[in-house]
Amino acid sequence: MTDLMAEPMLTNPYSGVARYQLYIDGSWVDAKGGKTFTSVNPSTGEIWAEVADGQADDIDAAVTAARRAFDGGWRNAGATERSAVLRRLGDVLARPDVIERLAVHELLDTGKVIRETIGLARAFSTWCYYYAGVAESLRGSTIPVPMEQTFTYTVPGPIGVVAAITPWNSPILLMLWKLCPALAAGNTIVIKPSEVAPVSTLEFARVLDEAGVPRGVVNVVSGQRAAGAALSSHPGVDKIAFTGSTATGKKVMKAAAENLSRVSLELGGKSPNIVFDDADIDLAVNGIISGSFAAGGQMCTAGSRVLVQDSIYDAVLERLVERVGAVKIGDPFDWSSEMGALTWSEQFDSVLRRIDKARAEGARLVIGGGRPLTPPSPGGFHVAPTVFADVTSSMEIAREEIFGPVAGLLRFSTEEEAISIANDTQYGLAAAVWTTDLGRTQRMVHAIEAGTVWVNCYRRVSYAAPFGGVKSSGIGLENGTEVMREYTEEKTVWIDTNQKARDPFRLA
Ligand code: NAD
Repeated sequence: MTDLMAEPMLTNPYSGVARYQLYIDGSWVDAKGGKTFTSVNPSTGEIWAEVADGQADDIDAAVTAARRAFDGGWRNAGATERSAVLRRLGDVLARPDVIERLAVHELLDTGKVIRETIGLARAFSTWCYYYAGVAESLRGSTIPVPMEQTFTYTVPGPIGVVAAITPWNSPILLMLWKLCPALAAGNTIVIKPSEVAPVSTLEFARVLDEAGVPRGVVNVVSGQRAAGAALSSHPGVDKIAFTGSTATGKKVMKAAAENLSRVSLELGGKSPNIVFDDADIDLAVNGIISGSFAAGGQMCTAGSRVLVQDSIYDAVLERLVERVGAVKIGDPFDWSSEMGALTWSEQFDSVLRRIDKARAEGARLVIGGGRPLTPPSPGGFHVAPTVFADVTSSMEIAREEIFGPVAGLLRFSTEEEAISIANDTQYGLAAAVWTTDLGRTQRMVHAIEAGTVWVNCYRRVSYAAPFGGVKSSGIGLENGTEVMREYTEEKTVWIDTNQKARDPFRLA
């Protein structure tokens, strides 16, 4: 049994540059064109890995392998076999050595701190176990149609080859949100991780053989954006499961339209974190910290629009600034570090630009506002946790995703005003409400346009609970049993048990 509280001492296992090939049809291969690209360790700014740069022909090889594996057996594998594969995968992912290896690779690739990446890695196996169970409980229904001696039922079946295109902020977990239900339903999969942090997904692929996942069922092709475009427009792909920005999601949907591929999109957000004056202020401040600064704010669900009721605005701001001032930015391998670096240089520049814009637009900088005074390493992409007050809904900081450690406090006086500000956004991924009033809770939950509403908590997700966005935050769901709709085709079967001819010119 893994000790979930253990804090193992971990270090960078590489003295030189780590090298990774593509994982296609159960084999490790170079990109056909022989190209590679490098991955930078965000905590130091140094190159730490060299990765095969997959192109359209590599994508084609992976889709072909996935199709062969689908037609060659996986689509017909019984539920018990699919479940067993997922359970074995869970068993490997639950091993402490594997948890630590994946946590270290994700740390080196994303700049997150060890307490975050270990937490994620300890959850990986749980997704596999849950969908191992779901695989065995997938069932259709019998339908009481209004015709005599007719037996009608539905059978869920797989769709075919799934393309999983993932972002850089939580590469393995967001990939597993696709892989687990896809395999549970009998699909095969081609994964294209982000070019910004591709390594942990390739490192994950190393466990597939050990878990006995049949060759070709799971394939990983690292590559640039063009590789993502090649995958989403490939005619051999039956379903695209995409997580990334809203702008790219629209391109993916257009590409899917060309082939009529099924598509689900998990996109950006600009979530309101709403604090009412009857809330427990300490709990709310803790939730603001979690929503704005965990993972350096690089969360699609970041609650970076903090709406605070007039009468407690100053008290919340004061306590927030006190706690933010104590956030420890440090060596990512140090268990006491709370925040690491942003994942890549462009993101670092973009966050600093948005901070400057917020100042120029009249938001009041209260703490942070740039690089930390004493960054843990001179070349790292570190940004100090930053709080702006006096933010208004029209400012860029309140409208655009920042994807960095920046919280902007807005002010409201009534429930109606809070709802109006909360919904004044193109996004609808998540929201939080801090209140002890049950009636208000119900009214807010009803009124807020978002796929997830947390009440007196933040950043909770589970394999068992559906997750998805409304408005420009996406289409479709992940997690829970609900996600299985995204990975299955329902077949309707009609059986006439009467064996007598009917009038062929009459609909019946
Ligand atoms: P991105 O859209 O730039 O890239 C995501 C993936 O798409 C990458 O693998 C990239 O190579 C690929 N890609 C790029 N262009 C493509 C194209 N034309 N066709 C197909 N694929 C293409 O996003 P990002 O910067 O990697 O990630 C950050 C974004 O992801 C943020 O907007 C964040 O909110 C969002 N996100 C959403 C969720 C969610 O569950 N809703 C979770 C995490 C991140």
